Amino acid sequence: MKAAFFKEHGGAEKILYDDYRDPVAGPGEAVVRVKACALNQVDMLLLDGRFPPPEGLPHVNGCEVTGTVEMLGTGVQGLERGQRVIIFPGFSCGQCEYCLAGERTVCVRYGYLGAHKDGGYAELVKVPVANVLPLDERISFERGAAVPLAMLTSWHAVVAQAGVRPGHTVLVQAAGSGVGSAAIQIARLCGARVMTTVGSDDKIDLARRLGAEHVVNYRTRDFVEEAKAWTGKRGVDVVIEHIGGDTFEKSVHALTRRGTLVTIGSHDTHWGRLDLRHVYSKNLRVLGTNLGSITELRTVLDHVATGRLTPAVDRAYPLEDARHAVQYVLDRKTKGKVLLVPGQ
Ligand SMILES: [Zn+2]
Repeated sequence: MKAAFFKEHGGAEKILYDDYRDPVAGPGEAVVRVKACALNQVDMLLLDGRFPPPEGLPHVNGCEVTGTVEMLGTGVQGLERGQRVIIFPGFSCGQCEYCLAGERTVCVRYGYLGAHKDGGYAELVKVPVANVLPLDERISFERGAAVPLAMLTSWHAVVAQAGVRPGHTVLVQAAGSGVGSAAIQIARLCGARVMTTVGSDDKIDLARRLGAEHVVNYRTRDFVEEAKAWTGKRGVDVVIEHIGGDTFEKSVHALTRRGTLVTIGSHDTHWGRLDLRHVYSKNLRVLGTNLGSITELRTVLDHVATGRLTPAVDRAYPLEDARHAVQYVLDRKTKGKVLLVPGQ
């Protein structure tokens, strides 16, 4: 098969498009023909070496995949060749203390498609059948590919971790990102009022269309002051944060008393300072979150199929142009998800 992979860490120029080992479905596994694969910030960390692929190089990125069943291993039931599917990107052992408690996203042997295994920047990808779900006919391959990591992670952060309710005020960082564009819609679906940040004025329209009431260009305005002004000096109930560094540090200051910050990622840096005085004196909650469950993914897909949530797709590149797609994401130009679509 053809794949876009890398043998060395670095920037977009390290992405090669060439022949790559064909995946073969073993017992309990399926090989899926990729119809669309979304890019994510974690791909950039894998590429530049801040999060080196655990199985080493060469490596194929790509956590979010929709496609059709190409090959089934022995002992597989409930799937047919050619069936439209979406892949749940988290792998868990099913045997550790956390798996047995039903908390598979904190499995001690947790892994991701496209990180711990070769992913979807390819014509074919191999996964355990437990990770393969039918994709509703009402959801296009392109829209579907924006769901299983970005939208699911946002869902778990907003609904399960932050417990966003009607009347809450929510600050979502980076409306132009996959996580941000999803979190705005999900918080609105929960009945909250939403403000968000953008890095350029040409993303303001998108943020408003997604449902944000107040949009702040963080390069020209202080989002903490804007959050205070927007809430009558009170501060927001919830911040959905996935940038790290200064953005993390300042986000804590945007919270009201008993507010909740959920950290989903660390796309600028893995580090963030925390002013502990604010945390204890205001009874704040600072929570981490990691993906979500397959049950939550089914719920999110139902909202997408019925139009209550709409994955924001910016553009699709042919698989052979993966290098350009990666550069586009690195340049922070995105207005929603960027996809790779293999030529068929
Ligand atoms: Zn486990």
